[in-house]
Amino acid sequence: MIVVMKPGASQQQIDHVIERIEQLGLRSHVIVGTERTVIAALGEKRDGAKQALETGDGVEKVVPILAPYKMASTEVKKEPTRIDVLGLAVGQEHIGVIAGPCSVESREQIMEIAGIVKESGASALRGGAFKPRTSPYSFQGMKEKGLQLLAEARDKTGLAVVTEVMAPEHVPLVARYADVLQVGARNMQNYPLLEAVGESELPVLLKRGPSATMDEFLLAAEYILKTGNTHVMLCERGIRTFEDHTRFTLPLATVPYLHQTTHLPVVVDPSHGTGKASLVAPMAVAAVAAGADGIIVEVHPDPEKALSDGFQALTPTAFRHMMADCRKVATALGKKM
Ligand code: PEP
Ligand code: MN
Repeated sequence: MIVVMKPGASQQQIDHVIERIEQLGLRSHVIVGTERTVIAALGEKRDGAKQALETGDGVEKVVPILAPYKMASTEVKKEPTRIDVLGLAVGQEHIGVIAGPCSVESREQIMEIAGIVKESGASALRGGAFKPRTSPYSFQGMKEKGLQLLAEARDKTGLAVVTEVMAPEHVPLVARYADVLQVGARNMQNYPLLEAVGESELPVLLKRGPSATMDEFLLAAEYILKTGNTHVMLCERGIRTFEDHTRFTLPLATVPYLHQTTHLPVVVDPSHGTGKASLVAPMAVAAVAAGADGIIVEVHPDPEKALSDGFQALTPTAFRHMMADCRKVATALGKKM
């Protein structure tokens, strides 16, 4: 339920409603708006709770939240959420660009690509140190050494570091080096991991599971939001379909759909979404046109030699062209990129 306070309700009245919500065995989440405060009362439905709260001083009305995801829903918060971390701004009129290799491979590789993507206008550096690979025989990432190199690249360029964390017990380690924790597609429904990244209080980039529905995706985000961490970005990275001309199918209608249903910003990953370098830039441009708040894209100094996902990595030159094209669309839409 949402308790909508009257405009000008006093702090004492707000505190009283919070106390009543908690006495009813529900959790409260306060959202202070420009005109009025609303308080979400979250938990299992209780008979009589609506009536009990409606009689509170300063309460205008109590309305049920219809969406199964409560805190992610636009029913609770209409203004779009913006994530700001170092120079990365994602949401509202800002389009953030997160670029870098699939995996951190060496100091030379990450330093070189960090400088290149920074110079081309990216606002964050991506790179996996813990890699979720389909085969246990494939390169698994440089682990802590990779994190140290990412932090060194941040120190040198000022770019925020976005990197994946695969297990709840790795969260403290990854959080020491990262600015944004990425939860990979394969882990979208790893609920202990979602709670652990929530508790880290760092911004989270949550990737959509390749077979997850929108409700499942938003309920996964809800696990993070429920910890009190509201810095969540949703990332569409493609789903599994019968198509075999692309690695996954990248459904861009997700972007406007999510903007209708949630206040959380939406990032698109055209690299994993297509799995083909030649398709990445056009889909990045299309994502911006569809209203994406961010793009995450794989760029490698020498894609042929990449230890993972080289086939979908942009060269530095292709990335520069992608940026120029995306910027034209962003400018036409009145956005900053
Ligand atoms: C990645 O971005 O490095 C990655 C592994 O992507 P996904 O989880 O979307 O497959
Ligand atoms: Mn990859």
